[in-house]
Amino acid sequence: MTTHEDLALHRFRRIVFFTGAGLSAECGLPTYRGKGGIWGSYDWQDYACQRAFDRDPEKVWEFHDERRRRMGAVEPSQAHRIIAEVQRRVAGTKIVTQNIDGLHQRAGATDVSELHGSVWRIRCDCPPRAVENREVPIGARRCPACGTWRRPDIVWFEDPMQPAPIEAAIAAISECDLLISIGTSGVVFPAADLPRLAVQRGALCVEVNPEETPVSDWYSVHVRGPASASLAGFWPELDAARESAAGAGD
Ligand code: NAD
Ligand code: ZN
Repeated sequence: MTTHEDLALHRFRRIVFFTGAGLSAECGLPTYRGKGGIWGSYDWQDYACQRAFDRDPEKVWEFHDERRRRMGAVEPSQAHRIIAEVQRRVAGTKIVTQNIDGLHQRAGATDVSELHGSVWRIRCDCPPRAVENREVPIGARRCPACGTWRRPDIVWFEDPMQPAPIEAAIAAISECDLLISIGTSGVVFPAADLPRLAVQRGALCVEVNPEETPVSDWYSVHVRGPASASLAGFWPELDAARESAAGAGD
């Protein structure tokens, strides 16, 4: 078991937060797997692969418009805010996320490697390929330059991973001294494999998840609780500092 002393921020220079859908579950966004998970109600073969998009792009866009609507309507959680605050205090802090909702950035975080892309970008094959787009529903679904349908810039089932965020994640994780995994089931590969690099390096590895996962053995510290309460327990001073800073501006 760890104590708050063990996780005191002055002890670390390079921290990585490795996050998944459980982090955003506290904001009201469903996880992918398990009870209430998205793939329990929708068949990904109809909504989340290139083949479905080629068959019926409007149907796939309607599904993603709805996801944008939901993701845009929620607020970042206390855990998202604490992570951003850690990053302000420890300059070498990086975030590697499987989430596509953009909530880390909305909480003020920077240096976020989005392994599975972002629902707030769209792309086609002509340069610059991916562009930011926050319209809900999406406006121009065809690219004005090449005329083809633009798709969400996220990693669907059967898609290859994007090399840039993977490379950034590998670099960050292989040199971190503290890795905190939060709200990820550890079953979606290759993303799930990345924390192993921190284990091999000898970093302190902490898993925050109410449930055990198939990769729990990799971690030397397990915190079986929800994201926000757990992080607030690690660094009670952080959220209080942020709230008073926000209050001071009012
Ligand atoms: P997952 O759905 O497979 O697992 C979620 C995990 O979060 C579970 O292990 C669960 O026990 C845990 N969890 C639930 N509530 C929690 C809480 N309050 N605090 C901490 N942990 C909690 O999610 P995953 O591992 O991220 O799976 C990866 C896939 O899910 C990726 O493809 C990702 O793109 C996608 N996804 C993203 C979003 C999003 O952007 N918000 C939402 C759903 C799925
Ligand atoms: Zn184009």
